[in-house]
Amino acid sequence: MPLGRSRRTNQVSSEFGLIRLLQAQTAQSDRQVVKGIGDDTAILKTSSAEWTLITTDLLTEAVHFDPARSSFEDIGYRAAIANLSDIAAMGGTPRFMLVAIAIPPTCSTAHIQRLYRGMMQATVPYRVALVGGDTSASKQGLFLSVTLTGVVKPERALLRSGARVGDRLYVTGTLGDSHAGLGLLMSRRRLELRPAHARFLLARHHRPSARIAEGQWLVKQGLAGAAIDLSDGLTGDLRHVCEASDVGAEIIAGSLPLSPACRAYAAARHLDPRQIALQGGEDYELLFTVPRSKQTRFERLAGKTGFRFTYIGSITPKQSGLRLRTEQGITRPLPVTSYEHFLRPS
Ligand code: ADP
Ligand code: MG
Repeated sequence: MPLGRSRRTNQVSSEFGLIRLLQAQTAQSDRQVVKGIGDDTAILKTSSAEWTLITTDLLTEAVHFDPARSSFEDIGYRAAIANLSDIAAMGGTPRFMLVAIAIPPTCSTAHIQRLYRGMMQATVPYRVALVGGDTSASKQGLFLSVTLTGVVKPERALLRSGARVGDRLYVTGTLGDSHAGLGLLMSRRRLELRPAHARFLLARHHRPSARIAEGQWLVKQGLAGAAIDLSDGLTGDLRHVCEASDVGAEIIAGSLPLSPACRAYAAARHLDPRQIALQGGEDYELLFTVPRSKQTRFERLAGKTGFRFTYIGSITPKQSGLRLRTEQGITRPLPVTSYEHFLRPS
């Protein structure tokens, strides 16, 4: 979820419309491609022992980050996490990384070394090896593109298309913290917020976690149907699951997991914290489904793990679309308020 959420007019009118167009334009079959465009990573049948996952993410200065507000270490760290999180969403194990950079005149060698220090801090715990990349000058703005591979057992990856009507929806961690952290960074006036809360939200924005262990646990238990990582925001990413699975979904507003810091931020800004949780991007938590018949078993096993999983709603028939169940028990359509590149101002 890029900075500032400005929605400037652009020649391209829809990020996901464009991707669909490109998918149709380039469609070709290859027996080794299990999953091409349309999920968090592509899946390639590279051996009978394990399948390869591959994903790439591009971070652009002034769109995804502002070096005046984030350190170069943090920018590198977040670029790596964006990719690690996509591997996590498939339930995979990250392996090899390539990094391409375009460097503007405003950046020094030391800046780029700091960028790489941040990337390594995020990836070394997973023993990811950096195996190459590309370097170019940029006339304006820093561009950072990270490509990451991973592996998963054959047939075991968690797909966006695995959700069925009646499935239960869960998320890891808490939602909206990164968005609140970004709000703090962008805010012109000082907010009445405890220093510990401010520190927590800024850390969640600058140093998010990739839920690799949770994804791998879900694959191992074989209890999850679909999964996606929350990069654009809950409503937008839930819509991706619904479109890929041909279903609808209902979120229970009162169930959304909120940190005390996010609640305090929302109170200070007179905002509804649930709205922040629904909209906020770059939490890099996992959203996944569990079939109703496996819910009891899932919750029993999950309770022993120490992972934080929260039940937030259910999968419904496609014609219901996305809906929100309010605390009064009323359901109403849930608009997609997450970030999308190229959206024209409404
Ligand atoms: P994520 O948020 O998980 O990184 P995206 O929303 O960026 O996923 O992309 C959705 C799907 O579209 C992915 O499968 C991605 O690989 C594919 N995709 C995105 N941009 C392009 C592009 N320019 N050309 C081909 N495929 C793309
Ligand atoms: Mg993703």
